[in-house]
Amino acid sequence: MSTTRTAQLMDGTGLARRIIEKAAAEAAEISRSSGTGPCLATVLVGEDPASATYVRMKQARCAKAGIRSRHIALPAATTTAELVDTLSDLSGDPDVHGILLQHPCGPHIDERAAFEAIAPEKDVDGVTMRSFAAMSFALPGFVSCTPGGIMRLLKAYDVELSGKHAVVVGRSAILGKPAGMLLLAEDATVTYCHSRTADLSEAVREADVVVAAVGRPRLIRGEDIKPGAVVVDAGYNAGNVGDVDFDTARTRARLITPVPGGVGPMTIAVLLAQTVEAAAHQLGFRRHRSLTAGSRRGHA
Ligand code: NAP
Repeated sequence: MSTTRTAQLMDGTGLARRIIEKAAAEAAEISRSSGTGPCLATVLVGEDPASATYVRMKQARCAKAGIRSRHIALPAATTTAELVDTLSDLSGDPDVHGILLQHPCGPHIDERAAFEAIAPEKDVDGVTMRSFAAMSFALPGFVSCTPGGIMRLLKAYDVELSGKHAVVVGRSAILGKPAGMLLLAEDATVTYCHSRTADLSEAVREADVVVAAVGRPRLIRGEDIKPGAVVVDAGYNAGNVGDVDFDTARTRARLITPVPGGVGPMTIAVLLAQTVEAAAHQLGFRRHRSLTAGSRRGHA
């Protein structure tokens, strides 16, 4: 009798659809009651075709969910000061509820200065230092969208995190680092791995939950996955390949995200949900901002 395990797939496509449907229903309710619907402002500097495609995709998803969007396309030669002015204007505009600055903006732009011009209550992409601090203190606030999506996936599949060892591979500001902070807020014991980690295999072998956030095809070997572990692969590489060697990892894990169709669709779903949440808050439909990524407790 074969003892080979086949992990259950964590269906990000289906969960993202349900999150967007809920956001759309709430957006419709806000529009009916207030006469004005949620509005996401997207800001793009320059004409990078990939960035332009991402922005168009986000606008199209907004439109489908009944969320208005306003697009500001700035020339590549825009200075940091001009970009800061644009974002400050949007931050003060009561008709705009969420702001997304598509990045990277180009080497001549001080992106940190630009992000900080976004009002925290409109920071639906979770890029400001205030949002980052809220995540690290486990306080309410908007989360980085991909880590927020990872947490929603784990919650949807009832993955117990308290007391579990989570190993996050990657420490970028938009993905690995906040993912680890959100896992810590759920009482996981978190280890970060990165390009200087001496022995990645050894660290991964200890993990009850692995979050791969690197951008290197099949860097994480299936044979290093602890039997029964939960594997979340946020990596996306050419040829629809993740950071985890899916075929072998699947024979050891209990739950695993496919690539594509796992973490990928969750990012935009969280962006839309947080835009509606921002609008609800700003238009007086919520007295307190709800937690957007599960039951984070304050440890400040
Ligand atoms: P990034 O900014 O390039 O960061 C990559 C991280 O991986 C860094 O922390 C780096 O370490 C670490 N790393 C590189 N080589 C490594 C190695 N050999 N062993 C261990 N760690 C290593 O990338 P990112 O923006 O976080 O994105 C990571 C992946 O997620 C990409 O495939 C991207 O396409 C994907 N992604 C997906 C979504 C989505 O699904 N919607 C959203 C965002 C990103 P150092 O810090 O030491 O350099």
